[in-house]
Order: sequence, then structure tokens, then C-alpha cells
Amino acid sequence: MLLNLALGLSLIFLPGDLSARAPQLKRYEFSLPRMGTMFRIELYSADDATASKAAEAAFARAEELEQIMSDYREDSELVRLAREGVSAPFPVSNDLYNVLEKSIWTSDLSHGAFDITVGPLVELWRKARTTGRFPDASELAKARALVDYRNLELDAGRRTVFLKRAGMKLDLGAIGKGYAADQMLALLQSRGIRQAMVVAGGEVAVGAPPLGKAGWRVAIDTPDTGTGNRPCVILLHDAAVSTSGNSRQFVEIKGRRFSHIIDPSTGLGLEGAASTTVIARDSTTADALATALSVMPVADGIRLAESLAGVAAFWVRQAGSEWERYSSRGFPTSCLGPK
Ligand code: ADP
Ligand code: MG
Repeated sequence: MLLNLALGLSLIFLPGDLSARAPQLKRYEFSLPRMGTMFRIELYSADDATASKAAEAAFARAEELEQIMSDYREDSELVRLAREGVSAPFPVSNDLYNVLEKSIWTSDLSHGAFDITVGPLVELWRKARTTGRFPDASELAKARALVDYRNLELDAGRRTVFLKRAGMKLDLGAIGKGYAADQMLALLQSRGIRQAMVVAGGEVAVGAPPLGKAGWRVAIDTPDTGTGNRPCVILLHDAAVSTSGNSRQFVEIKGRRFSHIIDPSTGLGLEGAASTTVIARDSTTADALATALSVMPVADGIRLAESLAGVAAFWVRQAGSEWERYSSRGFPTSCLGPK
């Protein structure tokens, strides 16, 4: 049965999927485009109205966050911060403050591999993707000079943000969807819906497992390594998983392939096919770390992942014609199969 609700929300009720132990719970699925990608909610609820109202509210929350964090919308809080936060400390919402604080935490841990001040470089590489040409050396140098998260000054007491250099541009593309997934899941939980999964593009946040199950089955999106490529599925509850990769978004220039993930230390998009998957207790952490660990050398990434409670990571890297897989302690063995 497919119902179209007033808000363009599509609701799929799967009547065959009733749990024997709790027949009153039904499984629902909703999806809507948000933040330039598809968002999906899967949840268990006793009735249609509770399920669709909760999903509607969760999507509205994502819309609210998009309005805050978008780097495309001229009137987003993030764009206003970049414009006005240069002359004086700019008061920000709790949501933006939280995301910026977590961004700096990730930058510190990764020694700048993760850096949301990467905006000017992202802009250059977006242009390269449309022209197919390598960014101009002087433009690249100018953009690089503006990238340094230490020029971002947060005042926890006043909830203000100050940008120390004119021309800085913030980009939350590597953390915003994860934060949205956490907020949506929390909203569903606040309405009594415990068994839920939120998928925000590549970010997955899950609550309690479906009744009678050990967890939510999440397929990990790794590069196509050809023969011997095992589908990698993990079971997860009360946690989050994110995969950053360059198999879909990249530009090819003179036989070199540059990813949309940028190494702030060189100003260049990452080269070579790869994916990095992070499991964490929340999706904000998983999203940010998946990007950080994509940029960092694997050995450093393993050390970092193993130093953090609740975090485990998994890498797939192309080395010549070979594929290499690495994982930190605790990553589910279902993904560690043959090369
Ligand atoms: P996806 O968007 O595919 O989920 P990521 O979470 O890795 O992938 O985010 C990539 C996006 O983050 C880029 O499109 C860009 O906007 C931004 N970005 C690129 N490089 C970095 C970096 N080193 N640190 C922080 N953000 C980055
Ligand atoms: Mg990310």
C-alpha cells in the first residue's frame, strides 16, 4: 500500500512484515530529498498516524538544518556567518555551534586532515569538475592560504564564532548530514519510536533493533573491486555508520582522478579509488571521522580509531591492480573478506 501524504511524503506500509511476538508493531518506510541527496526513514510503530507524523517532523527537522548549514543558500546561517563573522564575533544557533565544535574536535584529532574551512578549495575543485581543467596554480595557492581551522574562534560562553581571516569559507559537507541523521533519530525517539533507522545519503543512524532481530542490516558501499568482491553487510543497533569514498564524485584530468574529498595539506582532491567506513556511537562522529580517515595515512587512522571509545574503521584502497583492506580493532569481520 502506498499513500501519498499532503507534504509529498511517501509512506510505504508493508503488511507482510508483522512481528509474531508483537503483532501490533508495523514497519514503515519514508523517503524525501534533503541536503542534495535522498533521506530515508525506516521505523516500527503501532499505527499509521504516529508513524507518519513522527516522520514528517523528522524531515522538517532536516529541512531546518539544511537552512542553517547549506553553503548554496545565500540566506543560510552558515553563509551569513562567513559574511559577517569576519568583522565581529557572530552569534550562532545551538545547532550550528554544536556542528562547528564537533568539526574542530575532529580537526584537532586528525591534525587538520578534516577541516571545514576547506570551502575555498571545494569551490575551486567544483569549478574544475565543470571545466575539466586543473585549477590554476595561483588560485590554488590563494585558496590554500585561507584554509586553517585554527582561524575559527569559538566562544562557548557567548555562543559566538569569529573568523580571523577575510575570505574564509566554511563547508559542512563532511559532517552536516551526519548531524541531521542524529537529530532526526533523536526526534523519532522523543516521540516514543525506539526502533528506527535514518539514512541521510551515505550516513546511517540506527536506534534499537527491530523486534526479534539482533540489529539493523546495513550494506556498506565499498568500491567495486571486481572478482572476489564480497558484499559487506553489518548488523548495527544504537550506533551509526558512514562511508566516505570517491567512487562516485570525482573529476578526471589528464588521466588523473581527483575526489571531492580534499587533502587540506596539498589543496588537491584525493587520488585513486578508495572507501573509508567508520562505525561510531553517533552519526556526526561517524560522518566527520570517515572524511578525516580518508585523508589520513591508514596507520595513523587505525591508531586514532582505536583511541576512541565506540569507534571502529574499515578501509578499502586500490594499490596498483591490487585491492587492500585494512581495519581497526573491533570492526565486524563480515567485511574483512578476501581481496
Ligand atoms: P559524502 O559527501 O560523499 O558523504 P564526505 O562526508 O567525505 O562525503 O564529505 C565530502 C564533502 O566534504 C566534500 O564534498 C566537501 O564539501 C567537504 N570536504 C572535502 N574535503 C574535506 C576535508 N578535508 N575536511 C572537511 N570537509 C571536506
Ligand atoms: Mg563525512
